[in-house]
Amino acid sequence: MARPLHAQINLSALCANLARARAAAPGAKVLAVVKANAYGHGLARVLPALADADGLALVELDAACLLREQLYTRRILLIEGYFEERELPEISQRRLATVVHSEDQAAMLERATLPRPLEVFVKVNTGMNRLGFSPSAVAGVCERLGRSPSVAAIRLMTHLARADEDDGIAEPLAVFESACRGLPYPRSIANSAGVFRYAEIGGEFVRPGIMLWGATPFPYDTAEMLGLRPVMTLRSEIIAIQTLRANDGVGYGASYTASQPHRLGVVACGYADGYPRHAPNGTPVLVCGRKVRMAGRVSMDLITVDLTDVPEARVGSPVVLWGEGLPVDDVAAAASTVGYELLCALAPRVRVVATDVGPIDLEL
Ligand SMILES: *Cc1c(COP(=O)(O)O)cnc(C)c1O
Repeated sequence: MARPLHAQINLSALCANLARARAAAPGAKVLAVVKANAYGHGLARVLPALADADGLALVELDAACLLREQLYTRRILLIEGYFEERELPEISQRRLATVVHSEDQAAMLERATLPRPLEVFVKVNTGMNRLGFSPSAVAGVCERLGRSPSVAAIRLMTHLARADEDDGIAEPLAVFESACRGLPYPRSIANSAGVFRYAEIGGEFVRPGIMLWGATPFPYDTAEMLGLRPVMTLRSEIIAIQTLRANDGVGYGASYTASQPHRLGVVACGYADGYPRHAPNGTPVLVCGRKVRMAGRVSMDLITVDLTDVPEARVGSPVVLWGEGLPVDDVAAAASTVGYELLCALAPRVRVVATDVGPIDLEL
């Protein structure tokens, strides 16, 4: 029998989450963010479930080209743009849209001679201070790019640093507004957190990422409260059971010691599968549908859990590391990280099983 660890990808949940994004941002074009191999879910695998998106947005040029080879015909946006001038002809041939976030990128575009002009999203720095033109430079950049034969259409975009905080959007939106005043171009501002605040944020294009995968972009509102369904469920089984006596240690460094006798379940999943090594004792795991506590350090191939509350657990009992029944956000919180990191880190050695796009459940 094969090692029981596998990630189940629920494509109908993905369809439902996409519908949720569309409903939250009525009238906006939805560019589904699929960077990092669709947040770890496998881009080729999830593509059929994204058929209702108006386009895709990602960072990786090679993945974008592959999408065109698979005859994906809608808009594809490169959200970091390009890194070298020699990428531009391929971007043009493949009809990819691109972000332009810096003077260097703008200059490359102006120097290039392209088979066909590009759709360009000019990125404004509204306080994230990573990528983007300073607000005062935006009008000038748009004017220059508008004259360039390499540019077919201009859009304005920004990425909000604190869209998940109640008081996090007013100031950057005011900065964006003043940078773009009088510029007649369509806009794109909202990530997942922004999609849920679309009424305040607006824009012709939205860029939901994490919400599509059924995790929350917010620190307080859970995915369930937001009407999102988990897409990835990481499943395994108990592959061995130990009976601990009081004071027995478990695993490397004996970071867990039993305070009383109990059974311990050994689960086939470790950090080489993408499970976070820094998840501490007490991190939730589901065994037979019941929540139990991790006991002992995460190792490369295994984790160990306290089976005190699941007397029926046996070798072969089902385990959920995250997904249906155990939000990835809860595991992430226990491990002091975010759902994004856990999903993206799913390791290549984990077998992935996609379930079909069933009837789309539009109960929102
Ligand atoms: C990753 C990314 C998104 C999606 O963000 P989520 O928080 O996952 O919704 C949107 N826009 C840009 C520019 C991004 O890099």
